[in-house]
Amino acid sequence: MKQHIFIGGSSFTGSTMMSLVLGSLPTIGNVNESHWLISNHAKSGATFTDKFYITNKNIDQFVHCQLCGDACQYWSIDFRRALQEDKNEYYQRLSNQLGCDVLVSAEKSIDNLSHLCETKDHDFTCDMLILFKDPWRFLHSWMGRSHKIQNPQKALNFWARSYEQLLNCKTIGRKHILSLSEFQNQPEQGLQKICAEFSLPYNRDALQYWQTQQHYIGGNFNVYKRLKEKGTEGMAIRSAEKIQYNKEYDDIIRRHKWAQSVYNRLCQNRLIIDINQHGATLPNAFPPTGLQALYTKAFGLSYCKANKVKASLKHKF
Ligand SMILES: [Zn+2]
Repeated sequence: MKQHIFIGGSSFTGSTMMSLVLGSLPTIGNVNESHWLISNHAKSGATFTDKFYITNKNIDQFVHCQLCGDACQYWSIDFRRALQEDKNEYYQRLSNQLGCDVLVSAEKSIDNLSHLCETKDHDFTCDMLILFKDPWRFLHSWMGRSHKIQNPQKALNFWARSYEQLLNCKTIGRKHILSLSEFQNQPEQGLQKICAEFSLPYNRDALQYWQTQQHYIGGNFNVYKRLKEKGTEGMAIRSAEKIQYNKEYDDIIRRHKWAQSVYNRLCQNRLIIDINQHGATLPNAFPPTGLQALYTKAFGLSYCKANKVKASLKHKF
């Protein structure tokens, strides 16, 4: 394997779509949530040290290839069982299996990554793309879905913890941060930027990710089923969602110093997709819109001050 790109982020952050887009680029293979290759989805609360081996009896409880189901030639039961018993050179073996130069995976959390790599101090030789939604959109997505944490305060704690771990994690490879909303608003420029930063071969056709056949695991939707249901017109990457202002969530976010601090770090260090706009499309979820209003109202910072902070923190995240 020449390169591994790990996509990190919290839940509902666009990682499935992003891994499919990158997996549509030439010579790139996408496995998405590879931890489900060896972990039982029915016991998703379990840790990787639990022994729930893949057997022919319980195979139905495991997550299968989204393209070919349990008959996938890439992720066969024998391969998965061997991976489960010995995780040495884990990503190298996934890459060999797909026969790709660059492997993209989206296990999202540092906990998953450390279980798979089994290295100390989170020193990974992989590149990392941190994908984030602003806290307003995150809470909107999270609370709108059935999930075990139905408490906005706890959900926000989870969001802050996830991103703090990703920001603090030491990587030997490159690490970049991308706002999902900004990517959705300018997907072509966004993909160009990602390709340039990670030395990937750019091809705008990759934005039509449903046209490629990818043997990916997990993710929050099956692109091939969705394509059948919606047709190609329903698949295009759409502009960032407009969400309803919710006073309860807004109050919680404004009082949540931890989330504010993490969100500041993400914003200040993110890739600027359109250099001419200087971040004018920074995600914000409530009126009045605009970077200045967002920083002033949410964090008590002025636009100029935020820019100065950005300059001083440029290589320290
Ligand atoms: Zn398959």
